Amino acid sequence: MQRRTYLVFLGVPGAGKGTQAKLLEESLHLPQVSTGDIFRYNLKNQTELGLLAKSYMDRGDLVPDEVTIKMVEDRLQKPDCAQGAILDGFPRNLVQVTAFDAMVAPYGGVTLVPLINLEDDEAMRRITGRRVCRTCGAVYHVDFNAPKESGICDLDQGELYQRADDAPETVRNRLYVYYKQTGPLIGYYYAHSLLADLDGAQPIEDVQSKLKVLIDKALQR
Ligand code: ADP
Ligand code: ADP
Repeated sequence: MQRRTYLVFLGVPGAGKGTQAKLLEESLHLPQVSTGDIFRYNLKNQTELGLLAKSYMDRGDLVPDEVTIKMVEDRLQKPDCAQGAILDGFPRNLVQVTAFDAMVAPYGGVTLVPLINLEDDEAMRRITGRRVCRTCGAVYHVDFNAPKESGICDLDQGELYQRADDAPETVRNRLYVYYKQTGPLIGYYYAHSLLADLDGAQPIEDVQSKLKVLIDKALQR
């Protein structure tokens, strides 16, 4: 079986995983697979999956593994994932890691796990200022990554909104869930020599250029 490229982003909510994954899509010719985006798409379209996920997302808890794993499995079988994918938001606990390892094992396994490090206070500032385009999902920040015109997406002029789960009370639970459930993945991937540490406090472009160097190295292994 041909080897594929699978990148798995780790980092607290707000660290910049989605922003970096999106920027890589074009240069790597790989799709960003964001479980949060897929859940939000289903919520918007009021599908069964969206309605199931809603109560968990509103609280900042993880959607049950069975549902999430099946959703990713289906997504990775789509033709645009034939060379691999950039995963942003999955796997998020040890059950999901085990399932993901099995999914990608036939294609050479995970290529690299970029860990974007950021302190909680800064993550909170980023999340509370985050704005998302209602139509295309592009992500902005009111101060750090502002659109040209306030409240309007640069790409498709869609309306920018604030995610319901980006309210401070929910963010606190999401940080707790990250440390408790996703934190152990750092040790897991470190032990497999796949972890690549990045300083997420740097500007978006600087994180991106460091990331590209690390990915190039990993692809030559
Ligand atoms: P995550 O996917 O990890 O939750 P996002 O990529 O959505 O994080 O970024 C969270 C917020 O912080 C967004 O509003 C984004 O525009 C902003 N952001 C992302 N990276 C940086 C950075 N390096 N410096 C400043 N702001 C950033
Ligand atoms: P962030 O980018 O801020 O880290 P996400 O958009 O990745 O947040 O996730 C939003 C919500 O979607 C999570 O709080 C959770 O309810 C749900 N979710 C996303 N990915 C997963 C996953 N892998 N497993 C379970 N729930 C998930």
